[in-house]
Amino acid sequence: MATIFDKILDGALPCHRVYEDEHVLAFLDIAPLAPGHTLVIPKERRAHLHELSDEAGAALGRVLPRITRAVLAATGAQHYNLLQNNGAPAHQAVFHVHFHIIPRMHNKGLGIEWRTSELEDPEGLLSKMHAELAP
Ligand code: AMP
Repeated sequence: MATIFDKILDGALPCHRVYEDEHVLAFLDIAPLAPGHTLVIPKERRAHLHELSDEAGAALGRVLPRITRAVLAATGAQHYNLLQNNGAPAHQAVFHVHFHIIPRMHNKGLGIEWRTSELEDPEGLLSKMHAELAP
């Protein structure tokens, strides 16, 4: 399913481009939570992070710190959140993988509520995770 970010990647819709390379595009969010709120997307078209190839994941990881430094330099912010939503219940609205870089300014913008619980059955979780991660 095509998304609005496909149109940006295809050049059919403009964006305020922050950074671009062979695998990654970064641009200003159209409805920022704070000045400098930037979206970093892979050119690989996948809805969710876990669907990305290792290559696309590596390309994102390689540039996220550098793009974040540019956001901080441009805004003067010292604190920030990286947010990456997957699925509508997790507040994803655009179904193309994207990382939000959100400067934290004057205690405004992004609100986060942590509803913690007890860690249950870590060994059961680990055995399933290790099976999935086994080469
Ligand atoms: P999410 O809820 O994680 O899917 O966030 C989607 C983000 O995309 C929101 O912060 C929107 O403001 C942003 N957005 C939607 N359309 C555009 C656009 N054309 N250009 C820049 N940002 C956009």
